[in-house]
Amino acid sequence: MPIKKICGIGAGYVGGPTCSVIALMCPEIQVTVVDKSKDRIAQWNSEKLPIYEPRLDEVVRTCRNRNLFFSTDLDTAIMEADLIFISVNTPTKTFGTGKGRAADLKYVESAARKIAEIATGDKIVVEKSTVPVRAAESILNILRANHRPGVSYQILSNPEFLAEGTAIEDLLNADRVLIGGEDTPEGHAAVEELCKVYEHWIPRKNILTTNTWSSELSKLAANAFLAQRISSINSLSAVCETTGADVSEVARAVGLDSRIGSKFLEASVGFGGSCFQKDILNLVYICECLNLPEVAAYWQQVIDMNEYQKSRFSAKVIESLFNTVSDKQITILGFAFKKNTGDTRESPAIHVAKTLLDEGAMLHLFDPKVEEEQIIEDLTHPTVTDCPEYVKSRVTIYQDAYTATRDTHAIVLCTEWDEFKTLDYNRIYSEMMKPAYIFDGRKILDHDALQKIGFIVQTIGKKLTK
Ligand code: NAD
Repeated sequence: MPIKKICGIGAGYVGGPTCSVIALMCPEIQVTVVDKSKDRIAQWNSEKLPIYEPRLDEVVRTCRNRNLFFSTDLDTAIMEADLIFISVNTPTKTFGTGKGRAADLKYVESAARKIAEIATGDKIVVEKSTVPVRAAESILNILRANHRPGVSYQILSNPEFLAEGTAIEDLLNADRVLIGGEDTPEGHAAVEELCKVYEHWIPRKNILTTNTWSSELSKLAANAFLAQRISSINSLSAVCETTGADVSEVARAVGLDSRIGSKFLEASVGFGGSCFQKDILNLVYICECLNLPEVAAYWQQVIDMNEYQKSRFSAKVIESLFNTVSDKQITILGFAFKKNTGDTRESPAIHVAKTLLDEGAMLHLFDPKVEEEQIIEDLTHPTVTDCPEYVKSRVTIYQDAYTATRDTHAIVLCTEWDEFKTLDYNRIYSEMMKPAYIFDGRKILDHDALQKIGFIVQTIGKKLTK
């Protein structure tokens, strides 16, 4: 039976855009996105969506109340759906033993329990969230433990590979869609149904079908490989800074080898985002549980290198400013973990800002898409800087880069927003304290031009001489 109604549980960075694109490309399918958060659903139904993604507004406006609905009524959406995507968050457990830390599947579990409680007909349940390998087994146990006569479940793994900032583009032109299912006639039939949904816009040759466990593990592996490339080039950036090599030239030379390729070889202040660290920690945890300590240690290095890079960059800022930032005015440009998103989860800017606050700096912050409350919340999380009053007295959030840089000693660029490339740096320089410093943590600025203006410039992976 073709899929007529889809329910997406979880209206976040993945659930919202994926369900919106399915609704756009499959007008005959009714898609209802549900979330336990009333606020989030209210925002999805308003003019100001809860997340920023280029083109998302346009897609939602086209489909909303046509065949795309946002609701807090989980029961009705689950009851009516033929196919249910679970797109809830799978955060790292706060506490754990060993270096790896398990993904907390409590939200996946509660979604599965809800489905088991409500379903009265057959359902295809799809893991869209990133989960540990063999999670489908646990989900199926929950569903089948609440078995009702006449209800049968097929569980599929269909991990999401979109990147924030390009989510709509990635969903519309996916390199590949991965679908894992049980190797049984019923499993194959369920995989086929989901293939038919994607085939509305994804060529069949780009839809890869595997067994469930390969699909689950492939998502963790893909994120581990991507993060590994960043850590690899970042490790070399440290070598470049002391030898006279330029990491951009090295990356270009290395990336032109077709066996290696040029993507994801940008050295920077470090990777962020909600996924890379979480998924590698999860992989490390799985390896530890499987008694594979050498494999666990191998992947742990990717995270350790990222931590080192963030600390190394923060230390460079402090050392360059006469080894003290106490009461110095420092601007941080960019707070999101990457451009074109308002998401700050695991953003390197948080690490840099907290380090500078710990050293007594006064911070001036500007990000084009991150709200003030989010910045304050991120900086007052109970870690090193666990005193909200201290943070509030030392952090000011601005609405544009010019006021954020006025009368400050240094600019620390943490996010690669395009608009930072075209600022009037002559004007900025004239309004800053002297000597005026720029630390370009994303390597996006014209360093020669900045030096000509008078800035003292530092960046990643290249020693700049005046
Ligand atoms: P998110 O935190 O933005 O959204 C998750 C949503 O699920 C929240 O709105 C939350 O309220 C809701 N939720 C949680 N439990 C619920 C329940 N039982 N019933 C109803 N709603 C519930 O998370 P996200 O960034 O969208 O990530 C979701 C999953 O997708 C994670 O496993 C993540 O690893 C994976 N993923 C994320 C990205 C990304 O770029 N963010 C990319 C690929 C995969």
